[in-house]
Amino acid sequence: MVLVLFGQHYSQARADLVIVNANVRTMSAAVRTAQAVAIAGNKIMAVGTDREIMALAGPATETIDAGGRLVLPGFNDSHVHFTAIGNIFSSVDLSGAGSPEEMAAKIAEFARFMPAGRWILGRGWDNRKWAKKDLPSKGLIDPVTPDNPVLVYDLDGKTALANSLALAKGGLNRLSRTRSEGDVERDANGEPTGILRGAAINRVGSAIPQPHVQQWPELIETATNYAASLGVTSVQDVHSDELGDTYRALDARGKLKTRVYDCAPLSSWKRLAADGIKAASGDAMVRTGCLKHFAEGDKVAADELFAEISGADRAGLQVMIHAIGPEANAEILTVFERVNAKNGPRDRRFRVEHAQNARPGDLRRFARSKIIASMQPWLFYRPARRDASFKSLLALGGRLAFGSDASMTDLNPLLGIFAAIESGLTVEQAVSAYTIDAAFAEFQENVKGTIERDKLADIVVLSDDIFKITSAKIRETKIVLTVVNGKVVYRPR
Ligand SMILES: [Zn+2]
Repeated sequence: MVLVLFGQHYSQARADLVIVNANVRTMSAAVRTAQAVAIAGNKIMAVGTDREIMALAGPATETIDAGGRLVLPGFNDSHVHFTAIGNIFSSVDLSGAGSPEEMAAKIAEFARFMPAGRWILGRGWDNRKWAKKDLPSKGLIDPVTPDNPVLVYDLDGKTALANSLALAKGGLNRLSRTRSEGDVERDANGEPTGILRGAAINRVGSAIPQPHVQQWPELIETATNYAASLGVTSVQDVHSDELGDTYRALDARGKLKTRVYDCAPLSSWKRLAADGIKAASGDAMVRTGCLKHFAEGDKVAADELFAEISGADRAGLQVMIHAIGPEANAEILTVFERVNAKNGPRDRRFRVEHAQNARPGDLRRFARSKIIASMQPWLFYRPARRDASFKSLLALGGRLAFGSDASMTDLNPLLGIFAAIESGLTVEQAVSAYTIDAAFAEFQENVKGTIERDKLADIVVLSDDIFKITSAKIRETKIVLTVVNGKVVYRPR
């Protein structure tokens, strides 16, 4: 059977997933809004009316009713430190917990994003501050941590609470009484309550894999789960820890919920070039070929930087340089312009990371020299001071790509969109900088960043229509569904 819809032929067409009754903003120039979207495999099959899209549904198609909510392309964060985002979850601060329930809720929030098996560690709880001053027990946290061992110290650091999984890892149970096990609090039946002191803490602690903070797969899996909850479907990782193999291994296990453009230090360009890597090399989930560097700011460094960037550029790699302040921006723009002149015209997409506080005259050079300003509106947001540079850059015909710089600040793109709007951008411009323009900044604008036929199916459903509400309400907007690569990767409980 051949179906003809929207002037296109769909032979034997069946969608795997359809999202209907939606307010779709495609962010593409051609068709701007739609009611529904169909996904087949990892790609967008069609956008159209509910009627048109339902015609593509078969018995095996999953149908999601968006309840009239706003649907956007997944957010693309142009500047993150991804493993550092996973590292936020390496220690839970319980000092603010005013009750055992609050303590359990904080631990539950960590467990939500942690892969099974990752230890939840932390400190700071203080039962003396609670209305009932009883010590907590494992029964408080076991229900919210079925898959993660937990060991959390109190404020003094002399007492710790472990959950059942952690007690088991430490070999502590009803029958484990020995002289050497230390101080294990037990109930009337001899069952450990979870409260440990002295050698008992060490015994459980010795089961924690070391070093705790360099368990890369765990950190990335935590970060990708967290990103999915915020509708971030792509990240450009400038942390330069070159974990491409780790990302690919996670993807092969079906655990990677975020597309990653994994950058290397500029000084590594010869090695990448020798491996035949160019800008945006890789598959749709994990790519490399970007090089990140901090601008030094003196003339000698500028000459060295010129030589490095020029070489990397000739090898077809993409270069992004950090610059904050008028001098740093001016200097890196000069180096980029020298490379433009020396190496000749090419679609190279040089980027200045942060591009903060550039002189108004230098903003013009971003546009003229086709240099992308990769900016972080929320990181630099000050309520009293509007940042006119976003608006000026766009007015001058320059290109913006937005990001967060998480874990320096929150990964939540709605905070960045809020801050950009406060600084005078339209919602459309702010969302573009977080979707299609961010895709452009990583050479991916033809495969993602809009909701269009044949693009990768990265889609988010938002709690509220950010095109219609106040900027203050945009800050509060939540993600209610995230689709990456055609699969639902996040749905709040
Ligand atoms: Zn950064």
